[in-house]
Amino acid sequence: MAAGAIIYDPAYRNHDTGNHVESSSRLDAVMQGIAENEYARRVAILKPYRATIDQVKANHDARYIAGVRRLADAGGGWLDADTYCSSQSYAVAMLAVGGAICAVDAVMADVSNAFALVRPPGHHAVRNKAMGFCIFNNVACAAKYAMASHDLERILIVDWDVHHGNGTEAAFYEDQRVLYFSTHQRPFYPGTGDYEDVGAGDGKGFNINVPLSPGVNDDGYNYIYETLLAPIAAQFEPELTFISAGQDIHYADPIGGMCATANCFRELTERIKTVSPEGQVIAVLEGGYDLEALANSTIAICGSLFGFATSFVEEDVELGISQDVRARVEKVKEIQARYWDL
Ligand SMILES: [Zn+2]
Repeated sequence: MAAGAIIYDPAYRNHDTGNHVESSSRLDAVMQGIAENEYARRVAILKPYRATIDQVKANHDARYIAGVRRLADAGGGWLDADTYCSSQSYAVAMLAVGGAICAVDAVMADVSNAFALVRPPGHHAVRNKAMGFCIFNNVACAAKYAMASHDLERILIVDWDVHHGNGTEAAFYEDQRVLYFSTHQRPFYPGTGDYEDVGAGDGKGFNINVPLSPGVNDDGYNYIYETLLAPIAAQFEPELTFISAGQDIHYADPIGGMCATANCFRELTERIKTVSPEGQVIAVLEGGYDLEALANSTIAICGSLFGFATSFVEEDVELGISQDVRARVEKVKEIQARYWDL
């Protein structure tokens, strides 16, 4: 099996959001961090292709897709209160979906793991509207593509972004082929992601929400992954795993209230690799708004995915698993024990 790959295109800069917090400087910071790291810069970079309309239609209404295109063609404007669409944003959003799909094709061929460094992010985008900086749901489209084109039947999506991925949850809420596991701050944007939202119909038990108070640290996240994700994923046996990689749980992030360090992202990625028996893990960039924290955290993930050492000096961070995290894990266990051996 060939080494891993980063999926990136400088065209992702062309989703021009002005001085919005979700700007092209995020990917610039990540790519600069990669260029300055002697191991990360040796990882192959694949150029994504643009998704076809049908690939995006698998998860979005045709009218919504056409509406984004019209707004971009007319010079741009706001898709919702948070989400800007520039004249190039339709093309870039299609390329972001294409980046996640390209990662699927790469790992289904001969690449071990992949990281799609894309923007705009995707996990809030729902079937018929943009939300929270997201235009099309990159991970949802790619997971649907993997099921349709590579005949996969068990896909795990782990979403550690500080915000709940309402769009991804909705995409697979009644689908037992996709297990969605999200840790997120709650109450917080977008307001979804409660314990009892476990899926519906055939998808009942395949949606796992771990709502958290602010302040969760490295030990807390590791505990959640060890106690909940590991046993559930071992029973689910994913054929392919996506990480909705939102690095806005870093302690320096200006939006999120969590306390993860860059090293934590590596540890969580290691745990996700362990619970993915087929080996293939695809990270897709979601949030993360402190430029240095985003770059370091992303390189830490790459270190795990692509097998090189990383170490970051962190401020004094609090250690230990809080009582609040333990209590929340117990509550998730109690609810999910209806569906899983926990
Ligand atoms: Zn986020």
